Amino acid sequence: METEQVKCLIIGSGPAGYTAAIYAGRANLSPVLYAGLQPGGQLTTTTDVENFPGYPAGIGGPELMEDLRKQAERFGADIRYGVATAADLSTSPYKITIDDGKIIEALAVIIATGATAKYLGLDDEKKYAGMGVSACATCDGFFYRKKVVAVVGGGDTACEEASYLSGLASKVYMIVRKPFLRASKVMQQRVFNNPKIEVLFEHNAVGLYGENGVEGVHLVKRKGEADEQRYDLPIDGFFLAIGHKPNSDIFKPWLDTDEVGYLLTEPGTPRTRVPGVFAAGDVADPHYRQAITAAASGCMAAIEAERYLLLNS
Ligand code: NDP
Repeated sequence: METEQVKCLIIGSGPAGYTAAIYAGRANLSPVLYAGLQPGGQLTTTTDVENFPGYPAGIGGPELMEDLRKQAERFGADIRYGVATAADLSTSPYKITIDDGKIIEALAVIIATGATAKYLGLDDEKKYAGMGVSACATCDGFFYRKKVVAVVGGGDTACEEASYLSGLASKVYMIVRKPFLRASKVMQQRVFNNPKIEVLFEHNAVGLYGENGVEGVHLVKRKGEADEQRYDLPIDGFFLAIGHKPNSDIFKPWLDTDEVGYLLTEPGTPRTRVPGVFAAGDVADPHYRQAITAAASGCMAAIEAERYLLLNS
């Protein structure tokens, strides 16, 4: 298999990866960045980003990522298409296989592979993507002021997103498949005490309808094994909050993860337990998951990589 040696390899092209590339480029590390399955990352599936500092009028998600890419290229980052398909972090140089066809041997590796929001798997989620379906209340909630929305899920994220949306929307339904919430007690109380939130227990969303965007959701309420009730609920926005999957599978043999698969780093730093391997952005962040926090951790990872390379090469 073809092999190539690089000083600093960055895997992933969201705000963490590109920011790492900007800093690594400016530090003369000649970073090579592989963009992954979704070049530009999760923000390329959002419409307007209004909470990234520096854009008083907001900016389109794809446009923001395009700007970050150009900024990284300006400082010499070598940005390539390709997906990391295997990793061997046993000894330095670390070996990352790209598209099962090429091995990159890197002295420092920045993992910025992100996380993928889980969807229910309904065809309608794709049909109405960007037209009423979202997996990020903080990103898209603003567009549902005084409207009616539904949040799917019963965990902490769903409760948090429902609470957030209740500050904007006129009514928030939570669609919960079980007869109870999985969320922590404090989050549950917040939801139950909020007059704008109505929890629909033992409900499943099975489809969406609407002419030019979401106008409602088809629901099934299960009252028992053989007893189910189907009805339609008019809503303007459908938010998924059923969890994220960190894209960390290939690194799990080498790095520590939490029970969900988020990479664990030394607190307050992007350092993993393998020297010279750093984790930045959503792949290591179950809590904040914002573009700006991802960008910040990408910056930290690049600075760490620079210091590591200075001391070890
Ligand atoms: P969780 O896995 O905790 O919860 C997912 C929720 O989605 C559950 O209610 C689950 O239902 C439901 N769900 C999953 N798949 C489906 C499906 N196919 N159809 C319908 N419902 C589905 O994920 P979260 O993102 O909420 O939380 C992840 C982690 O982050 C947790 O550890 C959480 O505590 C933490 N977190 C903490 C916060 C805080 O402390 N402020 C804020 C946000 C997250 P079921 O219960 O039936 O499996």
